[in-house]
Amino acid sequence: MSENVKLAEHTWPEVEALLKRDPVAVIPVGAFEQHGHHLPLMVDAHMAGTVCEAAARKAQGDGTDIVVTPTVWTGYSPHHMGFPGSVTLDDDTFSAVVGHVARSLARHGFRRIAIINGHGGNMNLIKNLTQTLFYEHGIRAAAASYWDFALADLAAWRQSETGGIMHACEMETALMLATRPDLVRMDEAADQLLDRSTYFGADLLAGGSVASAATFRELSPSGVIGAPTLATGERGEALLETMVARLATFFADFATWPLGEKEETRT
Ligand SMILES: [Zn+2]
Repeated sequence: MSENVKLAEHTWPEVEALLKRDPVAVIPVGAFEQHGHHLPLMVDAHMAGTVCEAAARKAQGDGTDIVVTPTVWTGYSPHHMGFPGSVTLDDDTFSAVVGHVARSLARHGFRRIAIINGHGGNMNLIKNLTQTLFYEHGIRAAAASYWDFALADLAAWRQSETGGIMHACEMETALMLATRPDLVRMDEAADQLLDRSTYFGADLLAGGSVASAATFRELSPSGVIGAPTLATGERGEALLETMVARLATFFADFATWPLGEKEETRT
């Protein structure tokens, strides 16, 4: 069963045996929130899980011991609550949920925990979690969003101008067309670029230099920020393949990080 990357499908003796090989544990983290008129609520959780599992299988094929937990399906999405169907945790609860999953894994002996995110709104909290996990619990974790490993590829791949890749956008729509085309209502897709100060982040590849909060209701009547009409399934498949390869390379690298002896880090 060691070839199966899904932790949920292992038995405890299999996990016990796997732990002797110092495996990487991946926690995909998603969100449950509106994605415009053309994409379903599940996008962020679905894509985080899909990219993580494919990347883990690839890394495992290349010799890395690795397992992936089920995706944390709801995240920190207060900015989407103006749209029906969205679900959010508050920030403390979200951090506690992801933190307790990581701490459970660490208690059994997992020493390499990668938290891989699929929703921009989670990112500050997950980065912060790598600090509290280490300084308060002595657990070394790494956190990133699945697209972070492919930003240069994404810049070359895109057809949209700045503003086209943000939410329910060229990227997410293409990735959904590649993986769950049955759930994409392309006839409902409409582009909506953000008309804001450049200090305010308006694109995944052009983050603003100023932190600020806003609701999606005030930013976009449709819930879209980006250019979903440029997306095709073919382009999505190409991007997905690149993202999976980049993430697999990170997993293989993370598996070699020296962790040293556990030291007392509690302040
Ligand atoms: Zn999304």
